Amino acid sequence: MLILLSDAFDPGLPGQLAKYGEVTEDKGRLAEAEIVLIRSKTKVTKEYIDGAPKLKMVIRGGVGLDNVDRDYAKQKNIIVHNTAAASSIAVAELALAMMIALPNHIVTGDTSMKQGQWLKKELKRTELYQKTLGILGMGRIGSEIGKRAKAFGMKVVAYDPFVETSSVAEMKKNLKDVLSQSDYISLNLPLTDDTKGMINKETLVLCKNGARIVNTGRGKCVIEEDVAEALRSGKLAGYASDVWYSDPPEKTPLLDAPNVLAMPHIGASTKENLLRIGEIVDQLIGDYVKK
Ligand code: NAD
Repeated sequence: MLILLSDAFDPGLPGQLAKYGEVTEDKGRLAEAEIVLIRSKTKVTKEYIDGAPKLKMVIRGGVGLDNVDRDYAKQKNIIVHNTAAASSIAVAELALAMMIALPNHIVTGDTSMKQGQWLKKELKRTELYQKTLGILGMGRIGSEIGKRAKAFGMKVVAYDPFVETSSVAEMKKNLKDVLSQSDYISLNLPLTDDTKGMINKETLVLCKNGARIVNTGRGKCVIEEDVAEALRSGKLAGYASDVWYSDPPEKTPLLDAPNVLAMPHIGASTKENLLRIGEIVDQLIGDYVKK
């Protein structure tokens, strides 16, 4: 059996999986592979699957499966797994880091110091304490973010049509109820037909003036041009994002807009998460081999 590691995993993983068969990182051997391990970079499209006649299982190290054509995989009897539970803490910690960095001007403070400036009077901070955080998508990651926000003394509200109650957030029935009262909005949505472009001209109008958005979900859940315009007009006081229309973004108006904190999709990239992903992958392949 050939296992192809098509994206970046913990360096120890090939050795760990060697007990199941040959392990390769040579993407040119796709046609021979029975199991393919991917993260977000490899796109498992119809063409990709057609190029892999021996493929029986795809394991996505991470959560979002929007880079896998699951319908076509099903037609071809290819099992698709993710390692959903592994990444929540890694992503939640990055979301919190960005939410703290924005109102504290961490990046501007550091860059200006290194450029010989002293912006003590110019850099006015605000606190997270007693502000409202609105979470869109109250799943695994949203819940971890909510817990951490509570520890900062924030009020937490959330919108998720599939979640009725939460121990950390007051659930709201409508998107509008969350947007209209949140000082911070955390996007933790999967990319679906319903969530694509959810933050746009019309929904941004519903936000509080001076709200800040942190997006660790998917880039396409926002209309980037509309967010950039809201930042230029001052409607939004900040936008921090780990996710873009593509990795890396080809052309985004956000990189030229004010008060943007941009990260290169590293939400899941902690050492601990890669080890957790490895453990789940090992277990999934072990179960597959036993069958
Ligand atoms: P999850 O499935 O546990 O949570 C997603 C939540 O979104 C669910 O509770 C679901 O009911 C809700 N939802 C679905 N449609 C909705 C809608 N229209 N409106 C409001 N809520 C809706 O997933 P998770 O583990 O919390 O991950 C969330 C997303 O984060 C993933 O789908 C992925 O896109 C993204 N992610 C990003 C990174 C990163 O590196 N930045 C890493 C992991 C996951």
